[in-house]
Amino acid sequence: MRFTKITASIGPKCEDKKTLTAMIKAGVNVCRLNFSHDTGEVQGKKIDLIRDISKKLHTPVAVMIDLQGPKHRIGNFKTEDKYPLTVGQKFTFDTNDKPGDSTRVQLPDADVMKSLHVGDRILLNDGKIEMTVDAATPKKIVATVVRGNEIWSRRGFNLPDTEIDTSVLTEKDRADLDYAVTKKPDWVAISFVQRPEDIAEVRDFITARTSHPIKIIAKIERPHAVERIAEIAAVADGIMIARGDLAVEVPFDHVPAISRHIIRECRKLNKPVIMATQMLGTMVNNEFPTRAEISDVANAAYLRADSTMTSEETTIGINPVNVIETMDKILSYADGDAIANPFDWSRVENIPENDWSRSVASMAYLNRAAAIVVFARDTNIAMQISCRKPDIPIVAVCSDSATANQLCLLRGVFPVFDNDLFAKRDAFNSARKFGVDSGKLVIVDDDKISLRTLD
Ligand code: PGA
Ligand code: MN
Repeated sequence: MRFTKITASIGPKCEDKKTLTAMIKAGVNVCRLNFSHDTGEVQGKKIDLIRDISKKLHTPVAVMIDLQGPKHRIGNFKTEDKYPLTVGQKFTFDTNDKPGDSTRVQLPDADVMKSLHVGDRILLNDGKIEMTVDAATPKKIVATVVRGNEIWSRRGFNLPDTEIDTSVLTEKDRADLDYAVTKKPDWVAISFVQRPEDIAEVRDFITARTSHPIKIIAKIERPHAVERIAEIAAVADGIMIARGDLAVEVPFDHVPAISRHIIRECRKLNKPVIMATQMLGTMVNNEFPTRAEISDVANAAYLRADSTMTSEETTIGINPVNVIETMDKILSYADGDAIANPFDWSRVENIPENDWSRSVASMAYLNRAAAIVVFARDTNIAMQISCRKPDIPIVAVCSDSATANQLCLLRGVFPVFDNDLFAKRDAFNSARKFGVDSGKLVIVDDDKISLRTLD
């Protein structure tokens, strides 16, 4: 039995019906649609296809849309050539849209220009180039190259020292989200979150457009967000550890410690966590993962992350279905091992003793329950119990498919969409439907908690 969920990024190599069906059969729980690439109806069609397959297979699947956010790029150069930058040389960013050369290039974003200060670092091209700002005015930034490499048109850059005074939703994000809400995604992931107010802004944008209960994931990839993780996790519905940009913006050796810290904070606040980026990255080109990747995926399960995520290995990889099968295998074994060597309750820090979800989890644990059966009108109760990481399956009986789909992201939650079982509050048959035929059940129906034995 696998407790850790699989979020799969959907892209060119896996968005046909056959591959997507095989991937969902192989264990995909959440499909992530990255709006940095396709937008609008192209993504809309993919959402329809996922919903269709999910229905046909009677397998709930969550749809997560991922907005590009304020990802910064430099302007164009005179030619498509690569321009070498050497240590010690000066380089200028300005607002002039004429093509760049080896001394200057345009920086199209006015908010970025005015947020930069003397001494701030500028990291270009995934951190391969590092510069420090010597002089900053709203129209011109002069910097010295500290680490040299080649630069060319439209490269992305990161500003680890700079809190950028800009909305978390760009014009493009607003247009994307405006359309996406009409397709009722289960989760929306927000890139480059800096502050808790960013989440409030997105929530207002969504609630002004739909009453559908879309949940918000804050992607943690800026140092400013790491510093304020507790405040951000308190207002978001979930967190993604976006290790790709994070490892550029913070010292890369800090990423494992930050990941553990984020997981701990989210547990305190009852919020799910996705571990993302390069989990099985070498499988873009290979049929078999590296030993380090196998360990990375397993360690996410041992840390009780809610979900691991695939990126390029499924969007542009040689064998996306194999990637999911591989991830499923690693997670299943690690989860089984983690459960056989149960969770040490002394590690649950700072959770109030009277937290009711903790009571449910400890009741199930102390009674060696076979399952926790939750009658879920919405996602809240199952989500709170899941975030206690009880290492016991949570069978969430739902009366609507949207709730079942949304719950797919959560660790150890097995959504069962069945109106009849829900109406009758039939815990025994719900457990049987999930595959549990005997043992103790902790049953949660709103605020009523009971213990019964199925035999
Ligand atoms: P991205 O986010 O793939 O949208 O950049 C994930 C990450 O940065 O790790
Ligand atoms: Mn990112």
